[in-house]
Amino acid sequence: MAQSQKTLAGPVEIEGVGLHSGRRVALRILPGEAGSGIVFVRRDLDEAEIPASYRLLNGSNFSTTLSRGQVVVATVEHLLSALQGLSIDNARIEMDDAEVPILDGSALPFVDRIREAGTRSLGRPRRFLALTRPVRVTAGDKEILALPDNAFQATYAIDFAHPVIGAQSVTTEVTEESYIESIAPARTFCLLRDVEAMRRSGLALGGSLDNALVVGEDGVLNGSLRFPDEFARHKVLDLIGDLTLLGSPIRAHVIAFKGGHRLHAALVEKIMSTPSAWAIATSDDTLPAASLARFARLKDSLLPHLAGVAG
Ligand SMILES: [Zn+2]
Repeated sequence: MAQSQKTLAGPVEIEGVGLHSGRRVALRILPGEAGSGIVFVRRDLDEAEIPASYRLLNGSNFSTTLSRGQVVVATVEHLLSALQGLSIDNARIEMDDAEVPILDGSALPFVDRIREAGTRSLGRPRRFLALTRPVRVTAGDKEILALPDNAFQATYAIDFAHPVIGAQSVTTEVTEESYIESIAPARTFCLLRDVEAMRRSGLALGGSLDNALVVGEDGVLNGSLRFPDEFARHKVLDLIGDLTLLGSPIRAHVIAFKGGHRLHAALVEKIMSTPSAWAIATSDDTLPAASLARFARLKDSLLPHLAGVAG
């Protein structure tokens, strides 16, 4: 039987500080009806609603922000990632300020609270956006290639000219189990040498060693990493959150090299403006083996290249 849409079994309440605004915000995640999607609600602005859609993207490379007229919801990516990682299709997110709290800089606090509340099936089939042709976006030396696949897989390679981060890559099939264990705990990071400049531009005003890995020239200032490749894993976490703006969970192998929020947004926009490259499918509809084999060969020629970069 095809997978069903899911929502939360009950409400979740979370309070914290916005990473960039530095302001306190109270957030409530409520169950949503089948087909309603993920919707943000600004309680402080006459309950103005902002659906989590690529159409409302308001580009920034530091975080993912949505806006509709004067109404903004900022830094939505880690919460969207948690919802997507737990296969939650429908939820109403009420906030009393513009920015989603940063908490510990990962998606784990959201995941823990949502799992405590539990989830429930809505008895309507989940609709996936199944890629049928490759889609590619580039910007300078950054690149993302999305290939058709019967599962959602992510590969992320980064290469920082910094002794502590350097080159690393991670590949994972994104399932609820793998998301909870190996992606959700990965924290956001910034370079110590960039912190002053960010503050001068009015960014990261709520940033501290409690909510972001701060990378100095000799090591991480926060103590130990949760994974040796925590930086690359966090990029996967961000990618999963940004892809939520497609409106349906993607079925593809998304291979990113040096991406960021801006390139994730470009991928989402390219996919949505290329309707011949995808179809809406249930979990029962799969790609024919012959076409999968063709894309597998393309992947085999590509992934060793990425591994080489990261080695
Ligand atoms: Zn992030």
